[in-house]
Amino acid sequence: MKAYERGEVAHDQIIFAPAPSDTELAGAILTVDLKLLQDNWKKLADECAPAECAATVKGDAYGLGIEPCVRALWAAGCRSFFVALPAEGESVRRVLDEATVYVLDGLFSGQAAYYEEHGLTPCLNSLQEIEEWAKHCSAQQRRLSAALHIDTGINRLGLSPADVEKLGETPALLAPFKLALILSHLACGDDPNAEMNAMQRKRFDALRALLPSAPASLANSPGSFLGAAFACDMIRPGVALYGGNPFAARPNPMSPVVRLYAPVLQVRDVAAGSSVGYGATWQAKRDSKIAVVGIGYRDGYLRSLSYPASDGPAQVMIGGHYCPVVGRVSMDMITVDITDVPPEFIRRGAMAEIMGDNVTVDELARWAGTIPYEILTGLGSRYTRLYSSLHPK
Ligand SMILES: *Cc1c(COP(=O)(O)O)cnc(C)c1O
Repeated sequence: MKAYERGEVAHDQIIFAPAPSDTELAGAILTVDLKLLQDNWKKLADECAPAECAATVKGDAYGLGIEPCVRALWAAGCRSFFVALPAEGESVRRVLDEATVYVLDGLFSGQAAYYEEHGLTPCLNSLQEIEEWAKHCSAQQRRLSAALHIDTGINRLGLSPADVEKLGETPALLAPFKLALILSHLACGDDPNAEMNAMQRKRFDALRALLPSAPASLANSPGSFLGAAFACDMIRPGVALYGGNPFAARPNPMSPVVRLYAPVLQVRDVAAGSSVGYGATWQAKRDSKIAVVGIGYRDGYLRSLSYPASDGPAQVMIGGHYCPVVGRVSMDMITVDITDVPPEFIRRGAMAEIMGDNVTVDELARWAGTIPYEILTGLGSRYTRLYSSLHPK
């Protein structure tokens, strides 16, 4: 195992690379492997075929950067994208002329013209939204597309069963626009044994039967692995694309897309009995070597990763060796015990793997007492970000 040096990353092919001096001046370095993002999409597309595999890219593609991610996904064959906000949809449209862009948060009041201007397809969540979209389409004399989002039990966004019944009785409400998709969302997809999955699927089928026929979509990442009955006509995975484990309690079938390295700023000797960090929460049991690493909670390295963490301690990797995080996580730095690391790796400027092949996003989430979604979407903004090539040699 090699130790990465400041300014060096684990990939051969990098695009959008900053000038070397910028990299050398960077604190932590975050790489997004667009090839592995594409591989993950293809794996999910194979899993759900012949259903279509869309991509959920809300929240700046779960914090990875929406523009490079949607470009890479389009190149891999993805044609439909789900965002939360209309402005996120506009970001997708800016780089992809032909993609279908669904807005999950629905039609924002008074904004129908914006959706039309940017070619966004609202996922209509209520009778009010349906009425507003229909009115816009009638006024413009254009049958624009919309999706209907039906609530089948999660009780978040979506039309209630009573709303769907009303639509069934009053088809004229839907007539002014093109019904592109009917979707619903699973509450417990990450637990393949949850009874709620089958219940939601049954409700979904029953409610769809009341509506004009249209392609259907039920599955997020975990739902994508529940078989054809859940894949319907389209799956819309998010976290699995970015390397998060779609399952709560099974090995992760996806590849890690994000790698995060942070530099050792200083190495210090700490005598047995001395404490490290704010609150003096950790005491050295032996004479120790402690590396101060330049990443902190400002960078999304959550304070809950402080020693002893949940099911911890949290670990980083330096020179091929796992090193426990000791003491508290500060805003800009963490302290790790490198006493057992061979001396050649103990030096200022060595890069610690914070997340990647050896320290997974799922482990970080477990130590922090959260889910990989929150780790990815909470990644900070002051890294040097590198997007690896679409076509590595
Ligand atoms: C976020 C979201 C998804 C994607 O979920 P993942 O669990 O990240 O795959 C799909 N559908 C809806 C409605 C969502 O809100």
